[in-house]
Amino acid sequence: MAEGIERVMVVTAHPDDSEFGAGGTVAKLVREGKQVTYCILTNGNKGSGDRTMTPERLAQIREEEQRNAARVLGVEAVDFLGFPDCELEDTRETRLAVTAAIRRHRPDRLIIQNPNRTKLLGASHRDHRVAAGIALDCVYPLARDHMAFPELLEQGLEPHKVREVYMMWWENPELVVDISDTIDLKIKALACHVSQMKDMAAVEKRVRERCAQLGKPKGFAYAETFDTIVMDR
Ligand SMILES: [Zn+2]
Repeated sequence: MAEGIERVMVVTAHPDDSEFGAGGTVAKLVREGKQVTYCILTNGNKGSGDRTMTPERLAQIREEEQRNAARVLGVEAVDFLGFPDCELEDTRETRLAVTAAIRRHRPDRLIIQNPNRTKLLGASHRDHRVAAGIALDCVYPLARDHMAFPELLEQGLEPHKVREVYMMWWENPELVVDISDTIDLKIKALACHVSQMKDMAAVEKRVRERCAQLGKPKGFAYAETFDTIVMDR
């Protein structure tokens, strides 16, 4: 991987996606002294089976839960872009918003979701695929090129070149990150998403089993896995 990575931004569709896919890696990066920020595209306001819940109240709850989880992991800032849950589209507006976030926080590395549909339907939620596709288009060329989105330049948001991208990847991943020392923080951060965890004990069991399985080929007790892109220009 590229040397001298100091700032990392995690771009995901929903509150809780960062913790599920990369919470252990985020905690590890923070321990190594990196500055980590989150950029969350939707407000997550459809994720409830409670018939008395309203979308407005749920969006507020999920924002607060996400801020709590970010605090547990040591994430410095959380940008909520506020697009509607389950209706994320790849449009000029969404690309502009993510490009602005990249230019504002100037990350060396982006951690994103998987842009491809896989057989893991939960991980390959439509919003996740769309968010990942948007993020990649913003890395190249939209955040990098000064003439893309001229209004951003007018706001003082100078072009920025992201140097590498980690994509959350479960099937035949290139990169296996040892999170044995931070799995407990990952679980603690996941537990902050109270509205989403009907049975936290079951979630913990599932997450630990999954991370153990991902670490096995490398001999790690627990791991998270990614595919990577290093930008050469
Ligand atoms: Zn999600």
